[in-house]
Amino acid sequence: MKDRIKLIKPYISFDEVSTELEEIFDSGQLTKGQHVAKFVKSLTDYTGSLYAVPMTSATTALTMCLKALGIKKGDKVAISDFSFPATANVVEDVEATPIFIDVDQDTYNMSVDDLRSKIDDKVKAVIFVDALGSPSGIDKIKSVCEEFGLPLIEDAACAIGSSVNGVKVGAIADLTCFSFHPRKLLTTGEGGAILTNNQEYATWLDMKANHGASGLRGKVFDFIDFGYNYRMSEIQALMGWKQVAKLDGITERRNIIADQYAEALEPLGMKRQKIAEGVYHNIQSLIFTVPETVKRDDLIDYLAEHNIESTLGTYCLSGTTFYANKYKAVQPTAHWLENHTITLPCYDGVCVNTVSTVINSFFSSQIDD
Ligand SMILES: *Cc1c(COP(=O)(O)O)cnc(C)c1O
Repeated sequence: MKDRIKLIKPYISFDEVSTELEEIFDSGQLTKGQHVAKFVKSLTDYTGSLYAVPMTSATTALTMCLKALGIKKGDKVAISDFSFPATANVVEDVEATPIFIDVDQDTYNMSVDDLRSKIDDKVKAVIFVDALGSPSGIDKIKSVCEEFGLPLIEDAACAIGSSVNGVKVGAIADLTCFSFHPRKLLTTGEGGAILTNNQEYATWLDMKANHGASGLRGKVFDFIDFGYNYRMSEIQALMGWKQVAKLDGITERRNIIADQYAEALEPLGMKRQKIAEGVYHNIQSLIFTVPETVKRDDLIDYLAEHNIESTLGTYCLSGTTFYANKYKAVQPTAHWLENHTITLPCYDGVCVNTVSTVINSFFSSQIDD
């Protein structure tokens, strides 16, 4: 049987890390060592942000950002509605109320008009999601946040390597969260990071992620607050900095693959996620909307029958069972996108021709029906 064409493959091999891995095991220093320091430096050097604080995931990163901002019960947090549920869950977790902001039909990112219409005195922060890695429109959202004095958190779980007018994601919002889950383009197995230019946030986040420790009291750690253990191991950090060094090459090749897909699929009426002027997209995920005449789920099933993995674009958060029951505020565009978008396999060596030929034959079979 032919190999299954997967959605994504990690950009890291054993050979690339084997020497350092041996050193890590021999030294016995498996956490809080030189590789974590090196990963932190690679993230700040790469993004141009002043500080990077490693975390266990983007979810813990987002939660800690809300805590750093003092978000609490009774506060509202405006969030992009087309995302992975973690974006809303972190707001629930600090007992605040998520305000679902609908998204733009073409870029899939937070609508400026909808945000403006929903800002009131209770809204204390905005979480902008780079949908599928694209920061399109964040500059406009940032202006609105500045106008209202609201802190901007960027859920950039998917967006490492993307930029706006030459400024890398990580150096745009007040606080930016990356994910290094295996489904993302840079992976450490599990993991995340917070990037910020604000020294106060960085110091506080680092202290909280290290059991509340800061400096020494005599010869031992001084624990100045209660805290958590949200640290990253040396092995994860090693995987991380190795991939940061390759990031620009990875995103360039993904863009070439995305263009090849667009050329093959747009004549069928498939529409690629729109990227705003001045925005560079890392193509974390390659998303198309399917024409109204085809059932997206049938296309996913058809591809699966031909051994090709695909999935929906992402979720309409306000429409998931929990949030729909609790807030009854389903956003129409995000809901439409959840049902009409498809993510296609994109990685070095994927056979675009095979995938597009199968999609082509699916479309022909629809016309014949
Ligand atoms: C993947 C993802 C998350 C969660 O990231 P983890 O590191 O798995 O916690 C959050 N938000 C968005 C937009 C994501 O795509």
